[in-house]
Amino acid sequence: MDGKDFSLDCMEDSCRFWDDKPREECGVFGVYNRDRHDVARMTYYGLYALQHRGQESAGIAVNDDGTILYHKDMGLVPEVFNDVVLNHLKGKIAIGHVRYSTTGASLRENAQPMVIKYKNGQLALAHNGNLVNAPELRTKLEENGAMFQSTNDTEVIAYLISRYRVACETLEDTLLKVMNDIRGSYALVILTPKRLIGIRDPHGIRPLCIGLLDNSYILASESCALDAVGAQFIRDVEPGEIVLIGDDGIKSIKAGAAEKTNLCIFEFVYLARPDSFIDGVSVHQARIEAGRILAIEHPVEADLVIGAPDGGLNAALGFARQSGIPYGQGLLKNRYVGRTFIQPDQGQRETGVRIKFNAIRGEIEGKRVVMVDDSIVRGTTTRRIVQMLKNAGAREVHMRVSSPPYKYPCHFGIDISSSKQLVASNHSVDEIAKMIGADSLGYLSLEGLLQTPVGSRCGFCTACFNGMYPMEVPEEGNKLAFSRNAKT
Ligand code: SF4
Repeated sequence: MDGKDFSLDCMEDSCRFWDDKPREECGVFGVYNRDRHDVARMTYYGLYALQHRGQESAGIAVNDDGTILYHKDMGLVPEVFNDVVLNHLKGKIAIGHVRYSTTGASLRENAQPMVIKYKNGQLALAHNGNLVNAPELRTKLEENGAMFQSTNDTEVIAYLISRYRVACETLEDTLLKVMNDIRGSYALVILTPKRLIGIRDPHGIRPLCIGLLDNSYILASESCALDAVGAQFIRDVEPGEIVLIGDDGIKSIKAGAAEKTNLCIFEFVYLARPDSFIDGVSVHQARIEAGRILAIEHPVEADLVIGAPDGGLNAALGFARQSGIPYGQGLLKNRYVGRTFIQPDQGQRETGVRIKFNAIRGEIEGKRVVMVDDSIVRGTTTRRIVQMLKNAGAREVHMRVSSPPYKYPCHFGIDISSSKQLVASNHSVDEIAKMIGADSLGYLSLEGLLQTPVGSRCGFCTACFNGMYPMEVPEEGNKLAFSRNAKT
């Protein structure tokens, strides 16, 4: 196929033209402190470290002697909170949330934590993940009189908790009953008048870990948030585990892991921060390993290896070490192009990418360059960067990708809602190479990718690469319809 027959431009309208990457949709943080330290401020710092998991809204809820106080809004963590707000949020338990959503769901009422009042009191919860049966549950609840304030699936969980809490003797029984009803991915932090609770779904799709700082127990999506507040990593919450944290320490309830656990392998490819450890594996090491295996699977004669910032940098290092080709910095990323960047119109998009990235001519001129990136989703930005390298004098540009072709939509909390958005879904590797203008293109194999989390004891979800979802998922059309309203 001639590259001109299919224009990547047609995929651009719905995408962030300058940042063609899948997005994690949430990060969660929770702290329980017996000494009533400044839990809101600690949560604020924890959310700062998790900002890469969600940049559209942020929120913190605290328990002040049984009353829940909270603040949440659209924006980055430092835009949503200031000293005055944090000083107001006093208590000994706090939970926090950062959220990313697709356009339709970018609403203030969908910001979390979700705070609910019910017959027996109040609770707040924050969720990373996506329930695949939320539409059915929501319809059933509405038929029985429920009225929802938001369009996200976290409120469905909140509603189920409040409903079962009235009928069940204990909170533990309530949570077990809720887990029995909901299907999908969920790493939850819940704040009750007396306890901080963490729950990870039976498949363990999204990560959640436990830390300790003096008298504070902490729950966080990633260990980098524990490091940020000076806490020591204790362990990961296990798939299918509920941890209840109170004055008497941690109580664990094993609600039951799935027969095969399915941690999202994309956390290692791109989503998590490289300084995090997930289920005992260093994300940084996994990415280095991916680059190393990629160099074995797709060798090439070249003069320089560069990484596409930031996701491709670690894998590029692994590729360079294995191949013996020198590693260098060939691309610079402007870190100040963010959420508030005014979107250029179609005709100005080349300018937009040039503002976000620039090639370092002195490093690449006259060289055969290997550019390593973690993934190609739509291919629009990749094509522009390849062209940018060639304009800056690269003799050849060989694209290497440290994950397999991304072909299938994710139903578990990543913002790829349709295979139509995925260039690899409809095109062969050779066609994609032509479309992005690369001299060659090589993807890491799935077998290779599965070797990268060295020492891991868990199973992985690899559905976006092979379509093997760990549970029944909605038809693509249903996912689309719901995802516009219900991302968490
Ligand atoms: S489909 Fe892909 S991105 Fe989604 S949970 Fe599975 S591995 Fe992760």
